[in-house]
Formats: sequence, structure tokens, C-alpha cells
Amino acid sequence: FDGSEPPLNITDEHFLDGLLSADFRYMSCRSRYEFAVYHKTSSHKPSPYLIANLRKHEALQKRCGPGTAAHKKAVRRLDSGEGVVDDDDGCRYLVYISYRGLGNRMLGITSAFLYAVLTERVLLVDGGKDTGALFCEPFPGTTWLLPQAGWFSFSPLSRLQGYEGGSKENLGDMLQSGGITVSADGNVSWSAPRPPLYLYLHLSGSYGFHDKLFFCDAHQRLLGEVPWLFMWTDNYIVPGLFLTPAFSDELEAMFPEKESVFYHLGRYLFHPTNRVWHAIKSYYHANLADVDQRVGVQIRVFQKKQPPRFVLEQILSCLRDVKLLSGTKTDAAGGGNGTSSSFSRAVLVTSLSSWYYDRIRDEYGGRISGGVHQPSHEGRQRWRDAAHDMRALSEIYLLSMCDVLVTSGYSTFGYVAQGLAGLRPWVMPRAPMWAADWREELDPRDMPCRRADSVEPCFHAPSAYRCAAGRDVDLGKVSPYIRRCVDVKYGINLV
Ligand code: GDP
Repeated sequence: FDGSEPPLNITDEHFLDGLLSADFRYMSCRSRYEFAVYHKTSSHKPSPYLIANLRKHEALQKRCGPGTAAHKKAVRRLDSGEGVVDDDDGCRYLVYISYRGLGNRMLGITSAFLYAVLTERVLLVDGGKDTGALFCEPFPGTTWLLPQAGWFSFSPLSRLQGYEGGSKENLGDMLQSGGITVSADGNVSWSAPRPPLYLYLHLSGSYGFHDKLFFCDAHQRLLGEVPWLFMWTDNYIVPGLFLTPAFSDELEAMFPEKESVFYHLGRYLFHPTNRVWHAIKSYYHANLADVDQRVGVQIRVFQKKQPPRFVLEQILSCLRDVKLLSGTKTDAAGGGNGTSSSFSRAVLVTSLSSWYYDRIRDEYGGRISGGVHQPSHEGRQRWRDAAHDMRALSEIYLLSMCDVLVTSGYSTFGYVAQGLAGLRPWVMPRAPMWAADWREELDPRDMPCRRADSVEPCFHAPSAYRCAAGRDVDLGKVSPYIRRCVDVKYGINLV
């Protein structure tokens, strides 16, 4: 054993039924091979068509990625502002601009990746801060990290760090400023003789009407002519791609089972680096390994003014109402009421604060044979702090190793955990932002937790505009596999 081979009998299961390429060295990224050991065997299988598309995409990333002649040429062209010419190598790029917390970033990267596969673009991640320290490379023989700014003399790449969504080179702005001409029949074309070299796609939660036209077929045709696209999103836009007619057939072929899009793509793309994986495994073996059932409780509080007691009451009544911490394994799975004395259970609490953990331990500690555990309490969210993000990533993975999950509505941190786990969590609703006087206006008992009807993350800010019809529609009614999310009123998810 020279370190380049895994010290175990590699089976199809370790490659997640063909989802993962075999062209990596074991030591470079152990989590890639060991993920299956820590997660239950999947009932969701990737389709052969998805697998074929992933292998095809890996070849594209290798042919056009950083370090290749094609990439150098494309960057030079972008640098010099030369304009689009025909002698290119067929390499077009999608740069994901990284911002926000880890959960948002992982959903954004997944969305960008799927869009890159659909449009045959090379995905580059502006990992800037710490993506390389958190995740292994997902594509063999190349890197997905955008070479650091400073390398480039020209602006779009070097300006990425300061980018905050606004730009005249943004699709929505171009539509408004006349850079793109819209004809009476809804067709779109460039006002200039040639397509631009690059465009920004502003797809964050606060985007406007013109930005949302990204989800129209006509606009997609036009975008296909632009060599470099820069995507700015904190949203899981995948359900929106399913609603874009140009992509829906292809997506339906790749994902016959709609509920497992993130489940497969998340498991394909994200593999914690050896350092993070070591921390995850150590914590797991010390605290969670030797029980029959692990219950994960993810607590995320968005409003500073919200009294902790209110949130605590929500959690405790959810645990009580759905009998998650009493009775047998069958209870927690949603039915049955037998008891078993030999049945053991551990609770994993994740939260920025330790207060909830202390209260839950006071309430249940003595009765939970495997104990109540919280890996960290960071106090507050931090930016550009690799150690903080590593702890956050560890906790997302530890949650994904649980058998049952209770999550906080609206939280992308919870979405990623449930998606990687392949579980439909019980979701605690987020109190409305308008609730100023907590005591008088709201009672936690009026906000019971609900079982999510999908493993999929919620797309918080979808576009209700149907381009062909030229009007808004009720997104809860347009497709048999798209529903309103349990936690976000205007959000949608795949089911
Ligand atoms: P969201 O804001 O809940 O949608 O999730 P994000 O992951 O996008 O942003 C929240 C960030 O706050 C995380 O990335 C972490 O940096 C931090 N954070 C929130 N909850 C926890 C937690 O339970 N544990 C840890 N370690 N960090 C957390």
C-alpha cells in the first residue's frame, strides 16, 4: 500500500453508484471514498444519463480548464477586450462569484454547476477565500478554482472580489439600457454588432424583473453566444432551470427522480478536504458512532430581537409533538409506538449559540443514552475565516450523517445537510420578520414544525413570470414536480 490506493476493497458503493469518477488518488481526498461508509446506502440512484453527462463535463473541464492553451487564450481575449472571434476552441466559461455563508455558497455552486453542464460551459469557482481549504477538487486532472485575481490585468476577473451585484454589463441592466434589443414578438438580440465578451448574471434573492428574464428561452439563446458569464447567486435556482423550457427535457432525462437533484449533485461536487474530513470523523467516532439512531437538530435564528425562549419552545414542542426523542426508531420515522429498552440514541445540536444545547440537555440529557452533543458554538457568523467555515462544514456533514433531522426553516445550512443526507426533515417555521412584539403577537404553539415534502432545498426567490405567456403564474400549479416550500411562502422546491 503506497498511499495512492485506498486501503479497502473499493466497490461501486464507494463511487456512489458511478456518480464519482475513479480518476483520483485516494490520499488526496479520503472523503470521496469514505463518504459511503458514513452515510446510509442510498435508495436514490443516479441515472445512467446523469452519469454520462458528468463524465462528458469532466472531459470539458479538463480540456478547457486553467493551465490549458484554450484557457490561456480565452483569458487573454478577455484581458485585451478583443471581442468575440470565431477561431476559439469551443471553450466557454461560467464563473461562480462566491459570497454569503457556506450553505448559500454550496447551493449557489451547485446551481452554477448544473447550469454549466446544461450549457456546456467550464465552471470556475471564485473560491478566493477558502473554497480550496474546504473542498477537494471535483473534476479529475484540472482545477475548478479561478486563479487568484492579480494574475489578470483586465477588470472582470480582478474586480470580482469587490463585485456586489451591480454592473452595466449585467444581463438585467443591458435589457433596461438598450444593450439588448427586444422585438415586438419577444425575441432578443444584441444592439451592438457582436455579442459582448462577458456578462454578469445577477440571480440573488433581491433581483429584479429584468434579471429574472434569465429564465426565458430567448435570453438563454442569446447568453449562449457570450464566452464568459459571471454568476452571482445565493439561491438554489435549480427549480427555476426546470421551469425554463429550453432545459426541462434535458433535466427530466438526467433526473427521472426530481427529489434527488441536490442529493446527487451535492454528493458529486462536495468532498471535504482531508483536514476537515479528519475532524468530522473524529467527532463522529467520539460522540455519535455507537448508537442505533442519531437525531440532528439544527438551530438557526435570523432575527436578533427574537427571544431565545421562543425558539426553544418551538424546538421542544417539535421534539415532543413528533415524538422524536421518545419511543423506538419507528416512532421517529413517523409512525408506530412500541418501545425497546436496548434502543440507543444520540442527539446532535448545531447552533451558533450554546444556550439551546444547554436547555435541551437539561430537558433530555438523562434520558438519551447516547447523550446530547454540540460540536461548536461560534457565537456569531464570520466572514473570510477559514477555520470558522471548516467548523461550519464539519457540522453540515455531521448533520448529514444523522438518521432524523429537525431543521430551521429558511436556512440554507439546514438544506445542504438534509440534501446530503437524503432526508426530509421536520422544519421549524421562521417567525415573520414583522413580528416586533413577540409576546403579544406570536405563540410558538401556533407555529408547529412540519415535515418537508422533499429532500430538495427550497428556491427562495423564483421568477413567477412565464416568458411565453408574458405574465406571472402561480408557480405552485405549473408542474407536477414543483411545489411551494413548507418554510418559504413564495419559494418552490422539486418533489
Ligand atoms: P443560512 O444563513 O442559515 O442560510 O446558512 P449559511 O450557511 O449560508 O450562513 C450561515 C453561516 O453562519 C454558516 O455558514 C456558518 O458560518 C454560520 N453558522 C450558522 N449556523 C451555524 C452552526 O450551527 N454551526 C456553525 N459552526 N456555524 C454556523
